[in-house]
Amino acid sequence: MSLKPKLSMYWASSCGGCEVSLVNINEKILDVAANFDFFFCPCLLDTKKKDIEALNDGDIAITFFNGAIRTEENEEMAHLLRKKSQILIAFGSCSYEGCIPSLSNLHTKSDHFRTIYLSNPSIDNPGGIVPKPETEVPEGKLTIPAFYEKVKTLAQVVDVDYSIPGCPPEPKQVWLVIDAVIQGKDLPAKGSVIGAGKSTVCQECERKKEDKKISRFYRTYEIIPEPEKCLLEQGLLCMGIATRDGCGALCPKVNMPCTGCYGPPEGTLDQGAKMVSALGSIIDVGEKKGLSEEELVRRVDLVLDAIPDYAGTFYKYSLAGSILGGRKV
Ligand code: SF4
Repeated sequence: MSLKPKLSMYWASSCGGCEVSLVNINEKILDVAANFDFFFCPCLLDTKKKDIEALNDGDIAITFFNGAIRTEENEEMAHLLRKKSQILIAFGSCSYEGCIPSLSNLHTKSDHFRTIYLSNPSIDNPGGIVPKPETEVPEGKLTIPAFYEKVKTLAQVVDVDYSIPGCPPEPKQVWLVIDAVIQGKDLPAKGSVIGAGKSTVCQECERKKEDKKISRFYRTYEIIPEPEKCLLEQGLLCMGIATRDGCGALCPKVNMPCTGCYGPPEGTLDQGAKMVSALGSIIDVGEKKGLSEEELVRRVDLVLDAIPDYAGTFYKYSLAGSILGGRKV
């Protein structure tokens, strides 16, 4: 039996990209293997849930929990791993803030079931069967995990020690966190975001920033942006101004606007609200003097009409963890 501290990585409602980001620490994975007993990771190892249940509480040194809480099973595993882990880390945007899965909070569970199982052109379901947590069959009762009405973040169901943002987290940041643990360095106060900076992507973006005044937004396919000038100033909706740094401004570096996957900067509660408020101060509708309120609103609407999907743009990664949380009615 290994005497090394146990490490686990679990996926709830996620895409698997977080596991890839761990593997992308490349040869450093050998240091992970040398320092930890990589005990549980459904994507890579065949350890079973009963093996986790058989551990004493706190037997796992660190659990990286990726994925949002979409189903009863996701929540059950969150409680089990919380109990068995000394340090539980929300790993990646789904677990930390809900990410793409939580955009589904704009709709109801019955909306989803209707679209997925009933009114979908690629589905042949004459009996109108939708998944149910329990189904009686001649052999007995079949059960599947219940599908929740709303997606939740990990911290909305269990006590979380730290969060590592990113969709997925940058491997170099993942390694810095693991290395800090290996070296026995002091981790910051419980509840902190680790593996990232405290400022914004704009701070680490090398593009030239001048006066931000936007009279028109463009979709990425509509223009080829100048390579050195701030993308937002060129009318591309770059979320860098409302997004935590730590990724190295990778997207702006390759001419693509930041979409916000590192979540809100330190001290900001709601990433979408911060972005909307920033845009409010830089939209240029021309000379305002003498304009009626109606005309002002018309001009602002004209600029904003070029944004195709407000929630999907401003809350792409953070809806479940935001003040908004989802659709209210
Ligand atoms: Fe860079 Fe985007 Fe910030 Fe402009 S808005 S400085 S392109 S991160």
